[in-house]
Amino acid sequence: MECRIGCGACCIAPSISTCIPGMPEGKPAGVRCVNLTSDNRCQLFGKSERPAVCLAFRAQEDTCGRSSQEALQLITKLERATALAVKHEKRIMPLLYSLKSSSA
Ligand code: SF4
Ligand code: SF4
Repeated sequence: MECRIGCGACCIAPSISTCIPGMPEGKPAGVRCVNLTSDNRCQLFGKSERPAVCLAFRAQEDTCGRSSQEALQLITKLERATALAVKHEKRIMPLLYSLKSSSA
C-alpha cells in the first residue's frame, strides 16, 4: 500500500532504539519524533540524515490499517508484544544458558 500522507503513526507509536537527529538516544514508544511536523510529515524526508530504520519501514495494511488512528492502535499493540518478548528473552535466556553450562 501507499503511505498515507499526514498519518505519522509510525513516527509516534513505536520505540526507536537508534539515534535520530534531535533525539540521540532514540525515542520511547508513544512519543512524537522531533522531526515530525505539525501536519505529521517527516521533515527529514529525502535527506541523508533520515535514519535507516525509517527508510526501511514500509507501509503495509496489517500495520498501517485504514486510518492513522487504526495505525496507532496496531503499531502500539505490536510494540507491546515486542517489548514483552524482549523482556521474556532477557529473563529466560540467562536461565537457559546457566542450565546448559551446568549440564555440560
Ligand atoms: S503508519 Fe503507515 S501509513 Fe502511517 S505514516 Fe507510517 S507508513 Fe505511512
Ligand atoms: S525521522 Fe522522520 S520518519 Fe523517522 S521517526 Fe522521525 S519523523 Fe518519522
